[in-house]
Amino acid sequence: MPKFAHLAERVPCPQCGADLALNERVGFQWGYCSYPFSDSDRPSYNIGDEVVWRTDVNGRIHPWKYFDDDTCNIGDPTFADVIVRECEIAIQECASCGLEFSGIGIVIRGGVIESLNLQVEWPEGVETFVINPNDELVPQPEWTTRPMAWGVRGGPRTQLVKNSQAMQLLTLE
Ligand SMILES: [Zn+2]
Repeated sequence: MPKFAHLAERVPCPQCGADLALNERVGFQWGYCSYPFSDSDRPSYNIGDEVVWRTDVNGRIHPWKYFDDDTCNIGDPTFADVIVRECEIAIQECASCGLEFSGIGIVIRGGVIESLNLQVEWPEGVETFVINPNDELVPQPEWTTRPMAWGVRGGPRTQLVKNSQAMQLLTLE
C-alpha cells in the first residue's frame, strides 16, 4: 500500500470556504512517508514544520528508498525548495460548491513547509516541481514514476532528522 506524509491543515475553498482537504488533512509524498490516510491519528506536519527524513541503522539518509518495514523516504533532501502535489486523494474539486482546480500544492522552501497553493497548474504526470533560484517552477515528471529500491535497514527505532540535517547525512552510494 502506498505510504504518505500528511499535513494537518484546513484548505479553505477560495469560493465557498469549505475545507477542500478531507478532515483537514493533506496527503503527499515527499520526505519520510509512513502511513495512509486511514491511520489519521498518527504524526503529521503543520505549516511551518521542517520536512523530516528517516535514517538507516547507521544514521545515514537514503533518498528514494523503502525501509524493511515498508515505510520510505520519497525524494531527496538536497532539493529543499519544491512544490509537491497532494496525491493521496488527488483532490481537484470542491465537494461543496464544485469549484475546480488543478491540484493542492504543498510549498516547501528551505526544507520547511511554507504554504498551500491552489494556483499551480499541474501538467499530466507531474507531482513535483523544483523551485529554481529564479523562482521558476521546474516540473519533474521523471520523479513520478521513479523506481524505489527496497530493504534499507531502519532498525527498531524510527530515527527522523530534519531536512537541513538530512542533506549532510546522505549516503554516497
Ligand atoms: Zn467551494
